[in-house]
Amino acid sequence: LSDRLTQTFSALRTKGKLSPADVDGTVREIRRALLDADVALPVVKDFTGRVRERALSDEVNKALNPAQQVVKIVNDELVTILGGEQRRLQFAKSGPTVIMLAGLQGAGKTTLAGKLAKWLKNDGHTPMLVAADLQRPNAVQQLQVVGEQAGAAVYAPEPGNGVGDPVRVAKDAMKVARDRQHDVVIVDTAGRLGVDAELMKQAASIRKAVDPDEVLFVIDAMIGQDAVATAQAFQEGVDFTGVVLSKLDGDARGGAALSVASVTGRPIMFASTGEGLDDFEPFYPDRMASRILDLGDILTLIEQAQKAFDDDQARATAEKFATDSFTLEDFLEQMQQLKNMGSIKGMLGMLPGARGMKEQLDNFDESELTRTEAIIRSMTPAERRLPKLLNGSRRLRIAKGSGTTVTEVNQLVIRFEQAAKMMKTVAKGGMPQIPGMGPL
Ligand code: GDP
Ligand code: MG
Repeated sequence: LSDRLTQTFSALRTKGKLSPADVDGTVREIRRALLDADVALPVVKDFTGRVRERALSDEVNKALNPAQQVVKIVNDELVTILGGEQRRLQFAKSGPTVIMLAGLQGAGKTTLAGKLAKWLKNDGHTPMLVAADLQRPNAVQQLQVVGEQAGAAVYAPEPGNGVGDPVRVAKDAMKVARDRQHDVVIVDTAGRLGVDAELMKQAASIRKAVDPDEVLFVIDAMIGQDAVATAQAFQEGVDFTGVVLSKLDGDARGGAALSVASVTGRPIMFASTGEGLDDFEPFYPDRMASRILDLGDILTLIEQAQKAFDDDQARATAEKFATDSFTLEDFLEQMQQLKNMGSIKGMLGMLPGARGMKEQLDNFDESELTRTEAIIRSMTPAERRLPKLLNGSRRLRIAKGSGTTVTEVNQLVIRFEQAAKMMKTVAKGGMPQIPGMGPL
């Protein structure tokens, strides 16, 4: 992962042009990666079509770093399909909020009921679980167990009373929830191994009976290519307001997320990441985009398109360091490249594996780059090439000219000297470092 980061940084300071052939090659790889991740073919086609169009547009050609721009486009498009901003649960204006769960058997509905209950309880709610899965012999008991683990009330049909009729159970449960003043009701429903009409009719009837504020469609992230057909069947049969992706702890690569979100247009709201009740979190589209981007080494591929150029530039820079001819002028140039990259923090947040780095950099102030730039600009060309010229009166002049202080000018000179020294060692010794990042 850190290898990858290093490569990514080297791409950060690169500029160069992407040819249509580069774009086509990259798009082909993205396509392969998405198919490998079990994203449905029509979704892949649609997606790569949009990426290709944008990658060949002026937006990219005019960018200082087209390769990075393409990565950004891929990321943006992924986040958009995955729902853009994270969506929150919709609560009822009055009376209990009703959340109904639907999905195939084994998708993780009953487990999710417990997870949601615990999560909501922590948030000060008083959820009640409703056992409206009367299909499997031990389904009711399973819900009672997770309810107990979550510390939430469970409404289950009494033997002989309403057994076999989940719609009736759901209706009764609503009455009980109102009486006992539960503010959230979570209705667990039955699933079958495959989509079937009977089940769908039952789910639709339960929906009608409880008039839910949210219907969450729970889907196993490992479902692969069946994701689209299953999601469409549930959308037509019950309709749902949001999606919960379960079993994301497995090695599922998120393809189902992209397919379901893209085909149904419904937001993915939660991610289930294990069997325990705490293995649960709101779904973050940007994180999933990173997970998908991590696939097939898309970043690396794009960087490869740039590699030849990159190597040339790296060699030239290393040469300068080694021969002591790296000047404040070069320093300024590198700084401008960094700055033109747009928000460095935003860029880092976008890169798989760079999240930790992003937090570290949260203290980093981009306006400092601007001040540094101003200081160097206030120097004469001679001073830029030979910082040794910078005596007290010159430093005062520069500070005035750049709207900074002598202390800041001093600091910049020190940082530059340190960076140049470090880089010289590196250039001779060969340990990979990141030019331009030293003084940050
Ligand atoms: P339901 O048939 O839709 O109610 O599914 P269940 O909630 O009974 O879950 C089926 C199986 O999947 C159970 O063994 C759960 O422990 C397991 N399970 C549910 N959610 C997750 C998850 O996010 N990760 C993993 N690894 N297992 C899960
Ligand atoms: Mg169940």
